[in-house]
Amino acid sequence: MPATFTYQFDTPLYKGTSSFSTGIFIDGKFVDGSNKTTIDVVNPTTGKVITSVSEGTEKDVDLAVEAAQKAFDTVWGLNTPGAQRGELLWKIAQALEKNAKELAALESLDNGKTFMWALGVDVKSAIDTFKYFAGWADKIHGKTIETTENKLAYTRHEPIGVVGQIIPWNFPLLMWSWKIAPALATGNTVVMKPSEFTPLSALRATAILHEAGVPNGVVNLVTGYGNTVGAAIASHMKIDKVAFTGSTLVGRKVMEAAAKSNLKNVTLELGGKSPNIIFDDADLEQAVNWAAHGIFWNHGQACCAGSRIFVQSGIYDKFLASFTEKAKAIKLGDPFGQGVDQGPQISQIQYDRIMGYIDSGKTDGATVHLGGERHGSEGYFINPTIFTDTKPDMKIVQEEIFGPVGVVIKFDDPADAIKQANDTSYGLASAVFTQDLNRAIETAHKLQAGTAWINCVNVIDVQVPFGGYKQSGIGRECGEYALSNYTNVKAVHINLGHKM
Ligand code: NAD
Repeated sequence: MPATFTYQFDTPLYKGTSSFSTGIFIDGKFVDGSNKTTIDVVNPTTGKVITSVSEGTEKDVDLAVEAAQKAFDTVWGLNTPGAQRGELLWKIAQALEKNAKELAALESLDNGKTFMWALGVDVKSAIDTFKYFAGWADKIHGKTIETTENKLAYTRHEPIGVVGQIIPWNFPLLMWSWKIAPALATGNTVVMKPSEFTPLSALRATAILHEAGVPNGVVNLVTGYGNTVGAAIASHMKIDKVAFTGSTLVGRKVMEAAAKSNLKNVTLELGGKSPNIIFDDADLEQAVNWAAHGIFWNHGQACCAGSRIFVQSGIYDKFLASFTEKAKAIKLGDPFGQGVDQGPQISQIQYDRIMGYIDSGKTDGATVHLGGERHGSEGYFINPTIFTDTKPDMKIVQEEIFGPVGVVIKFDDPADAIKQANDTSYGLASAVFTQDLNRAIETAHKLQAGTAWINCVNVIDVQVPFGGYKQSGIGRECGEYALSNYTNVKAVHINLGHKM
């Protein structure tokens, strides 16, 4: 029997108890992993172990796939009409809503994000995601296609079957929902692996989903490491689709494994180094507020973080002064503390990685305009950091840091700003600030990225597609576009009298 994790939250912002199994979830039951080994889960605010969860194996992935295939063949897939799937998705949303505060608290405990953001964005958006895809479940339509008088042709958008899903630690519950909701809406069954750093909200939410009435085997959750459980999903011969969110480095491995196994369909949501271009005529106060949100939200651990801030020379000095004040005012501390804006980075590994980038910026000759050092004495806190005097080829300008570290770059010529903005292997998101509508649209269209924000940053809605150009990914999540990730198109040709 897997252990139960019980935690008493007694914080200024939330008081309550959370209790759930830490096993792997296969065929509607929490069970021990086949090796019976576990992985420690660390609270990034203190650096101390909170609990441990089952360490899944390749064998557990096999068992999960078997359960998912059985569920697909018997109770889900083409056995459950779309309207019924939609009703169930809506019930999941309601069940998550009932447990919203507990889920937000788990997210803060495990990931370190502030409770208010976890509740207001992560959990709320996860609920919205299930509601949105509930609406799509009975609208999965093909087309009728005219060819000749003697033929009727039409397409069906059929579920793929068992789909594998691998998610990261930066938005654990939100990524869980972005993956599961469209997969279920379109009739697939799921084998999911959460990040080994943040398995808690996925475990609790999976239990909630089951209580809401999802049949056994439809959703299976295998906790474990990437190079074992993740690799087993990516290379599994009986999984016909894998959806991955994480780093570009691992995304490449997932695609390789898919290619070398059964050529499964792959969608990838990967890293970014998103530009934010602020023109002289921008509303300065708003540009400063959004730019700070762009890079410091979620402690800089957002794939779409506006980490390269290009500012036109006419407002550069004023912008930098206000942006610096804004960054200085960010309150770091316990994510459950009143008024806290920024919690810790996720892990010692990430802390070291970010500090490594800060050192490389210094060595390469950039100026640390603000921050650049640890905050406090325990946990993985890093002060908001601003670099100036950078050169385009510096690592801090080219590579994803995934921490609260932004570079501010002065420009004169708009064409040069756009050229520099596009000078990256990534293409996830971008932003432009100006009050000139023509310039805003022209710039947005020239930026090579899957998202272009005008006068805002990091605003993501489930109704709108999200995904990357270039090495930021393949495919789109959210919106109607997400449905195509999880459906096969079948063309049916009916002969209406053509004789041979
Ligand atoms: P990561 O790539 O290290 O890990 C992501 C997941 O992949 C984890 O569950 C991990 O265990 C698993 N994994 C690791 N090795 C694997 C392997 N060989 N085969 C299969 N799975 C494996 O990423 P992370 O550190 O968890 O998350 C941060 C990264 O995610 C950043 O680069 C960020 O930009 C990206 N991200 C992208 C989006 C997006 O929508 N584009 C959203 C969130 C995060």
